[in-house]
Amino acid sequence: MATIGFIGLGNMGGPMAANLVKAGHAVKGYDLSQTAIDRLVEAGGSVAKDLKDAASEVEVVVTMLPAGEHVREVYQKTVFGVAKSGSLLIDCSTIDVESSREVHAQAAVAGMDMLDAPVSGGVTGAAAGTLAFMCGGSEQAFERAKPLLDVMGANIVHAGAAGDGQAAKICNNMMLAIQMISVCEGFALADKLGVDRQKLFDISAKASGQCWSLTTYCPVPGPIPTSPSNRDYQPGFTANMMLKDLRLANTAKSAVDGNTPLGEHALELYETYVDSGDGETDFSGIFKMLEG
Ligand code: NAD
Repeated sequence: MATIGFIGLGNMGGPMAANLVKAGHAVKGYDLSQTAIDRLVEAGGSVAKDLKDAASEVEVVVTMLPAGEHVREVYQKTVFGVAKSGSLLIDCSTIDVESSREVHAQAAVAGMDMLDAPVSGGVTGAAAGTLAFMCGGSEQAFERAKPLLDVMGANIVHAGAAGDGQAAKICNNMMLAIQMISVCEGFALADKLGVDRQKLFDISAKASGQCWSLTTYCPVPGPIPTSPSNRDYQPGFTANMMLKDLRLANTAKSAVDGNTPLGEHALELYETYVDSGDGETDFSGIFKMLEG
């Protein structure tokens, strides 16, 4: 069993750390929020007195932080200075590819194995231990991390070298945003044309319009009872989070001179939706705006 310092015990990190505890690992957690720390203690974890303590005397450091600036700060100001040489570092946050590769390079200099391992599956997947992990880093880092990722997830893929997990994650979420908007537009147009929503669902779910946003996460109430549209678009995955990921995709696209016209349009639409005050609703709530 591993000794693990877990930094960032929020909506995702909290249940992920709890699953590591449940599997018998010794987890020492740290967060800026006392409520988040209390939740880990309830789950059977122990409390690090500060960031330095969280990364000291452990074999593995896991981070689940909001954005690239937090990840850079935590690793550069603390973790690289106090973690043991040979430590395994797993960053599960969704951050920009550039920050991820920068931190990877510094980990290599410090003699530590690092993996970027962003996730998909949301808070439900985090609690159930069924997250998908998209991993970037060396084969050795991946093999060392795999048993721990298996505890927290169900689909663990080694996407490639340093930062490639982040790159895959933002490409996936850009596809998801475009797909969700397309399903919303289909239902909004069908409404105007007088086609019953359930009928459109029954047709498209088995025709070429079929996709995850339709058959698992349907943005109109009715066809899929578990989708957020049935609870007035309570998240789920917030529009703020989707906007963050679309911005990351757009930044990455600019850095490599890529071509993502629909990704850029999706970004503009989510900006408008969030600016209208709906950032904390589920991202499928953009249906309300697209319906007009
Ligand atoms: P969150 O805001 O609930 O949790 C982040 C936690 O990090 C907070 O508790 C905060 O106090 C803590 N934190 C910030 N700076 C810190 C520091 N310097 N030291 C210690 N703790 C610090 O966010 P979340 O929903 O758990 O998301 C975390 C990451 O996972 C994000 O990058 C997000 O994009 C990604 N993600 C989230 C979801 C989701 O559905 N929530 C899904 C997939 C990926």
